[in-house]
Amino acid sequence: MMRRILPLYCAVALFASQNPSTPLPKAVTDCIFCKIVAGTAPSRKVYEDKYVLAFWDIRPRAKVHLLVIPKQHVASLSELDELPVETRAALLSACVRVAKDQGLLENGFRVISNNGKDANQSVFHLHFHVVGGEKLREDAISKDPAGKR
Ligand code: AMP
Repeated sequence: MMRRILPLYCAVALFASQNPSTPLPKAVTDCIFCKIVAGTAPSRKVYEDKYVLAFWDIRPRAKVHLLVIPKQHVASLSELDELPVETRAALLSACVRVAKDQGLLENGFRVISNNGKDANQSVFHLHFHVVGGEKLREDAISKDPAGKR
């Protein structure tokens, strides 16, 4: 029995490790967005596919404030090249898709990615803020004047 199963198992494992279209999410244990991807932290999910996840920001700063993230962990936009091309494409498509689902296409919306400390990035798992549903301030997602970020 084992003789028959073992070669099959090896073939599947080899295929999975060599197939570049298979995303291999490498969860970072202390990353809150990796926990959301793994389902060990809660989120208000609005969209999910093989490559990306979209959910409501826990502290929305506009009527609609969603986050679109790759399932595979990279810290920020600076590391975009580490993601497979399918994931990069899926990220942008998901931004438009969730905006459309929220009815934002007609009046417009904004997509923002804070990258690094000068941009006040606070969660170091790449994410795109998709904001809209009202007339946005110019600094909609930047540090607020009261410093309550
Ligand atoms: P940034 O400052 O650009 O890195 O944005 C990080 C965003 O993640 C902020 O808008 C936070 O409100 C949001 N955030 C942090 N933790 C969570 C969480 N557990 N669920 C949803 N959004 C979160």
